Amino acid sequence: MAAPARPWQATVLTLYPEMFPGPLGAAIAGRALAEGRWACRTVNIRDHATDRHRSVDDTPAGGGPGMVLRADVVAAALDAAADDTPVLALTPRGAPLDQPRVRALAAGPGVTLLCGRFEGFDERLFARRAIEEVSIGDYILSGGEVAAMVLLDACVRLLPGVMGAAQSGDDESFESGLLEHPHYTRPALWEGLEIPEVLRSGDHAKIAAWRLERSRADTRLRRPDLWQRHPDAADRSPSGARYQKKEE
Ligand code: SAM
Repeated sequence: MAAPARPWQATVLTLYPEMFPGPLGAAIAGRALAEGRWACRTVNIRDHATDRHRSVDDTPAGGGPGMVLRADVVAAALDAAADDTPVLALTPRGAPLDQPRVRALAAGPGVTLLCGRFEGFDERLFARRAIEEVSIGDYILSGGEVAAMVLLDACVRLLPGVMGAAQSGDDESFESGLLEHPHYTRPALWEGLEIPEVLRSGDHAKIAAWRLERSRADTRLRRPDLWQRHPDAADRSPSGARYQKKEE
């Protein structure tokens, strides 16, 4: 597939521009970058500092440990970088990033990502600029850059022409609200364990039914939170037996 006329544009505002594209310059994302399917631009927040020390942070009002990123400096960087892409800040308190949000972002023109450091951003930034906050999980990273890479990797693999038809991604975990079924490959017998018989049957309808059933059972057992939201969760009781995990 030919590269698009305009690549999906990632703009990353960071104190560490040298971290990009980093791991996104390799493998699937790296190939897509080289093919012009997406572009990665960094903006060094420090370039928008106004004092002679190029300060980007200051002590927290009210006292306490750490430093806080200044709203005026970050806003100046953001205003200078502005294009038609949505602005997202990586913050632990943000809305949890999920596959529907990733799909929506991948379908748009790109993203502008704000990477925090220290204790995070001066709160007034969020009052004065249209910024969506997203989190990649309930743990604390030292900075937003790795979180930005997670978000970009998830989006880039969905761009047209990035994955082959065989890896269209439609069956992956979360795409249907279910976890994906388990996978097996040769050898057929390994350490006394066989590949489930149905997968060797050649009966595509039976295989599809087995996979769907395993997706449902695994989701119910491993991620009851996802299962409770799924339309197939006819039996919503915690003790419901319909999708108990079956031994292979
Ligand atoms: N003081 C903040 C708190 O307790 O919520 C943590 C700041 S953290 C040390 C520094 C930066 O890392 C954050 O501003 C954010 O950009 C990024 N970060 C840390 N954990 C993150 C997460 N789970 N998701 C997204 N970004 C995260």
